[in-house]
Amino acid sequence: MELSECSTMRLGEGAAAADLAERVCRAYDVVVVGGGITGCATAYYLARSGARVGLFERFEIGSEASGRNAGSLHGQIQFEPFKRRGEAWARGFLPALQLLLGSLELWRALEGELGADVEVKANGGLLLADNAAQLRLIERKVALEREVGVASEVISRTELIDMAPYVSASVLGAGFSPVEGKANPMTAVPAFARKAAEAGAAIFTRSPVLALEPRAGGVLLRLPGLLVRAERAVLVSGDQLAEHAASLGTPLPVSREPAQVAATEPLEPFIDHLVYFAGERLTLKQARAGTVLIGGGWPARTEQGTGYPLVDPASLRANVSVALHVVPRLGEVLVLRSWAGIGNGTPDELPMIGPLPGEGRAIVGLFPYMGFTAGPLMGRVLADLALGRDPGLDLTPFRPGRFASP
Ligand SMILES: Cc1cc2nc3c(=O)[nH]c(=O)nc-3n(C[C@H](O)[C@H](O)[C@H](O)COP(=O)(O)OP(=O)(O)OC[C@H]3O[C@@H](n4cnc5c(N)ncnc54)[C@H](O)[C@@H]3O)c2cc1C
Repeated sequence: MELSECSTMRLGEGAAAADLAERVCRAYDVVVVGGGITGCATAYYLARSGARVGLFERFEIGSEASGRNAGSLHGQIQFEPFKRRGEAWARGFLPALQLLLGSLELWRALEGELGADVEVKANGGLLLADNAAQLRLIERKVALEREVGVASEVISRTELIDMAPYVSASVLGAGFSPVEGKANPMTAVPAFARKAAEAGAAIFTRSPVLALEPRAGGVLLRLPGLLVRAERAVLVSGDQLAEHAASLGTPLPVSREPAQVAATEPLEPFIDHLVYFAGERLTLKQARAGTVLIGGGWPARTEQGTGYPLVDPASLRANVSVALHVVPRLGEVLVLRSWAGIGNGTPDELPMIGPLPGEGRAIVGLFPYMGFTAGPLMGRVLADLALGRDPGLDLTPFRPGRFASP
């Protein structure tokens, strides 16, 4: 599509000719709305395939959830929803688990592909239990994972102590998921963006998309002083996804869930794994810099009026006390900082991937709560969909239209 075509397109009702004259006009094969990990990965895979792609980010690359998360690389059914929702839900989650595992495979090769050290380490994840009921639940979860060929096992306290001598005397055993690990969100997301730009993607930061409008044969984006036309749009705008989908005629039930993470002072390396606790929300890992990152989805607050995420001191205290319960050594350590971000959820806690119903030209992507892990695979799948290629995966369980009323 040429720029001349773009400037002759018909604007909506009431748009003045002057409006068009004042604006710069750009055209792409595919536009990506949102510069988090999903958007940057999508732009990279699109540009690598030779598509003309423009990515528009309202702030800076990775400035929202993708740059504020805890950097865990997950590869198991998350224990908290398993406890809360039960086995039927967990069975329904198995296709999403396969996506996480596919993404973990990409993560393992990513540093070579992106030419950047993003601190990927995959020593496995330990889900600690300190009573028999927790261990029984872990056993049921592990059995489900093994049924579909996912590497996962239950280990005894003796085996655990060999791997994690720092755990509390109250811990009886653990689930072990060997594929899990961590990466550094603050370097991984910009590395994707840089590689996308090198492959030819046009990346625009501080460029908020104000409106999206369907157009014959494409989509029109309105930005301050800029109109953008594209054949397809990939909407990966996190907490604004619901709004963007609604503007194209399909309301989507995306929840906004502020959560927080804390970091200790740097310590010599002593935690090799991603650590969870079956009794309460917790993720814990040690970054290469030595800081221990303490998270697990404890709720943050939001500022009234702006919705900006703020640390909740009560959550911070509760989160740290769970960490101390399983890793007593942390009692001697200072927590230096804590920060908050907005996570996004769906009613069934499954991803949303695919075209908006009745609007084949806009494709949405959201992986609730674990979108950092899922980002690379989501990017590849969304790029395939935008290019009309078969991503080679059954995306039926994730179709955005599943929430539409009959
Ligand atoms: C505290 C916390 C800890 C987490 N920990 C983990 C973890 O350890 N492991 C894990 O796998 N996941 C974790 N997550 C979840 C993970 O961070 C997210 O699922 C993931 O980052 C989502 O990436 P995204 O690119 O889809 O969305 P986002 O990162 O939210 O990116 C969306 C982007 O769209 C932009 N945007 C929105 N509206 C517009 C507009 N109008 N115009 C232009 N741009 C727009 C935003 O500015 C933003 O940059 C955590 C989340 C939080 C909040």
